[in-house]
Formats: sequence, structure tokens, C-alpha cells
Amino acid sequence: MRVTSAFSRLLKLPGVWVKKVRFEPDRVVVTVALRRRHLHCPKCSYSTPNREDEQDHDSVWRHLDLGVWRLEVRARLRRLCCPEHGALVGGVPFARDGARFTRDFDNLVAWLATKTDKTATCRLVRIDWRTVGRIIERVGGELIDGDRLGDLFEISVDEVAWRKGHRYLTLIANHRTGRVVWGTEGKGQAAADRFFADLDPEPAASPSPPPQPAPRSERAKVPRQPAEPAIMVPFGPCPTVAAGEGVHAAWLAVGSELDPQVVARASRLTAVSMDMTGGYAASVRDHAQQATIVIDNYHVVQLATKALDEVRREHWNELRRAGEQHVAKAFKDARWSLLKNPDDLTDQQAATLQALTATGGKVARAWTMKEMVRAIFAPGPTVEAVAQLLDRLLARLARSRLKPFVRLGRTNRKHREGILAARRLKLSNARAEALNNKVKLIVRRAYGFHSANAALALLHLTCGPVTPTPTTRTPVRVTSPTIMPGEPGKGPSPWHLAAVLSQRRCGRCWRSASS
Ligand SMILES: [Zn+2]
Repeated sequence: MRVTSAFSRLLKLPGVWVKKVRFEPDRVVVTVALRRRHLHCPKCSYSTPNREDEQDHDSVWRHLDLGVWRLEVRARLRRLCCPEHGALVGGVPFARDGARFTRDFDNLVAWLATKTDKTATCRLVRIDWRTVGRIIERVGGELIDGDRLGDLFEISVDEVAWRKGHRYLTLIANHRTGRVVWGTEGKGQAAADRFFADLDPEPAASPSPPPQPAPRSERAKVPRQPAEPAIMVPFGPCPTVAAGEGVHAAWLAVGSELDPQVVARASRLTAVSMDMTGGYAASVRDHAQQATIVIDNYHVVQLATKALDEVRREHWNELRRAGEQHVAKAFKDARWSLLKNPDDLTDQQAATLQALTATGGKVARAWTMKEMVRAIFAPGPTVEAVAQLLDRLLARLARSRLKPFVRLGRTNRKHREGILAARRLKLSNARAEALNNKVKLIVRRAYGFHSANAALALLHLTCGPVTPTPTTRTPVRVTSPTIMPGEPGKGPSPWHLAAVLSQRRCGRCWRSASS
């Protein structure tokens, strides 16, 4: 077999044939040519038989390594003129637009980045982490499903710190599937507003505001104008009504088209869960008034843990100021014994915790209150029982004489209804917390990426509704030899072996030997 045919079969690049193979000291260079005559725009579906000019463009892509060899694919491409994107070099079916790597290479890197850590990915594929970021962005952009915002009823909105210097990503997750469906850079009301803008995009034509009645004194002066025609599109499953009937609706300019399925998406939200900072609630009030605002219970526990840590740090500083350096050192080491959930403690940490709580004092009291907060949100109790426990806890926090816990009590009292709504609507706290922990882990991995879009793409590929696969090709089916009727349990019969052998391929022409 010729080396070019062998490489054609080995690489299996779609839409091309191998013209030439060259072995260099550190790499294998495979030159390919496109099978199709038409030129295709790499950015859209436009194709044309005509080239833009006589100029050729030599392109190079890196493909999956061949054993220890680095493999380069080269092709000479022609330029075309796309009516939308202008003059540019034609696209190839085996690589994405603007990529220096083949599609197979991109897919493998994206899959590795979602499965393993930064160092392993970079060493295995021999590229730097920023390049991995660009690849993730490209693959994410192609794989992320445009319909993922279609069936949202109960969602959570939360921010996560990304990189240093108070940079944040805001993520929207679907409670029913436990997956991240949308994300943006930034946090607070502006970020949530961007989500609602994407959920129900504005119609192409600018919407006309509802006509405001003029004040009574001016009405007599202004000559009567014919009413400005407008179409009322009500949100939700109610019939179309005349303008001004008091149903939440969008105003459309006459003649503009609006997909009622799209405009109704915010109105289908039944619950939006969030933390207690307030910015998101304001946005939900503006865009989805029917949705219940729910406080994610794990945020309440997180705040309690923070309050305990404040009390612990204060006590540690007091010990240091009193000159008890070795006691202060031992107390500092006990940090995780206090902050971790008791079920997750090691034997050593459990013994330390027992010693700390046995001595009493404000740290022991703070720890007991943190555990009371956790106990309220344990699965099991009914809404009424939780309401009673919460009221008792709020009273105790108010009397605690520990500033961080008094503050915690005030915050929780303000959000009492939202905290109870999580239990009433049976929004899974465990699932929300698990997703939050996973997101934090992935975001730490994305710290080195240059852009927030790359970090968001990694989150979508890891915690979102799409799962990347290492390759786009159909997997090779490996069939084990079937035991044919004959002697059960003693391997294939001679008759079957003969049948298998006869299906072997001829070494010269790749036809079946039996044909
Ligand atoms: Zn185009």
C-alpha cells in the first residue's frame, strides 16, 4: 500500500485526500487536497464555484499526535468572496473557523479539560493553558445548545468569583436538571437583567410604549388624535386581550413579528432561587413578577459558617494579644475542626472539636449555633416544623451577644419567607449545593484563561446540558467472537472460525477475501 493511502486511512480526515507525506526530524507533515470543487465560507453556509483571485493560501493545522510524532496537516486553499463576510480563505471540513488545530484535536483537548486538571491536559497535548482556553471557547460555541433556555420553570441564580480582583461570573442553573444553562461576566442586577434579555429577546422592531393618557387639564387643549394602533401579546397561557386590560404584556410595533413561545419564557418561571444580596431579586421583580423568590438554604448555612469563622478569628487574636502564643497556634490549627461538617471530620479533627466544645466559651456557643442552622435544613421536617425551628433560632440568634450571629439573625429574619419557600417548593438543597461545589472546582481550573467566555464555555461543557466527546467520529465497533452453536463454553467452533477467516480482507486490494 502506498504511504499516502495508508495516511488517508489512518487520519480519516473528512473531505480531503492525502497528496504527500513527509517525515521531518521532529514531525510528520501530511499535505492534503480538498475533494470538493466548490469553495465554502468558513463562517456561514455560503458556497460558490468561483474563486476571488488567483492567490493561494497555505494553511497548517496540528492534528492528533501519531505515537511520539507531532503531526501537521497542510493544505493550499483558495479565496472566495462571501456576500456576508467578504473576501476570505475557504473553509475546510476537518477544522473549525480560525483554528490552528484540526477538529479532532480541538475535541480531544475540550474533553480532557473537562475531565482532568490543567497540568495533565497541557503535558499530554503539549500546548499551553491559554491555548486550551481558546479551544474550549471554540468547541463550546459550537456545542452549546440554543434551545437550552426553552423549558425553564425553577431556576437558580448565583455568582462565583473568577480570577483575582473581584471578578465574578453569574450563572443560571435549571433546578430540575441540576445543570448550568446560562452565564455571563459580572454579578448583581445588571447580570440578571442580561439573562432576562436573552430569555425573551426584544423583537427586531423597537417596541412602542403604551399610550399614556394626558393630564385632564391638557386633554381639552390637545386635538383628539386617532389611537395609536398596537398589538397586545399577553404573557403566559391567557387569551389575547385588548390593550390596557392589566395583563402583563409586551408592546409590539404594528407589523412586527413576535414568536409567542419566545416572549412567554420569563412568564413560565415559577421560582427563582438566589442568595441574600438583593440585586437578583430586584431583577426578577422587574421581569418575572409571578415567580417566587427563594433563598437557597445552603447560602444560609454558608453565612452561619462565616459568622463562626469571625468569632473564631476574634478569639484567636485575643489569645495572641494575651501573649499565649502556643495556645493561639494550636487554636489556629483547629480551624477546620470547627468549620467542616461534623460528618466529614477525621478522627483527629473530631477529637480536637470535642476538646474545644467541652471547654465552653463563645467559640463553643458559636459552633452550636452554626450546627443549629444546619439542622434546620436537614431533609425530613415539614414546612410548619421548619418555620417553628427557624423562629426559635432567630430568637436565639438575637440573644446570642455575638455580633456576627446577631447580624446573621437580622439577615435571616428579613428573608424568612424566602428561606421557607425553598422547603415549600421542595427545591433540592443537596443538588444545588453539589452543583455550587462543582462550579467552584471548575472555576478554579479556569483561573488561567484569558477571557471570561473561555471560563463560561468550560462551565457549560462540564456542568451544562452538553457533554463533549473526545472525537466526533463514530466509534469503532469492537465485536468479540461469538460462540457459535457446537460445544457451549469451549470457544468458537471450527465452522465459525472458518467463517471469520473468510471475511478477512485481501492484503492487496482491500476487498473481502471470500468475494
Ligand atoms: Zn459567509
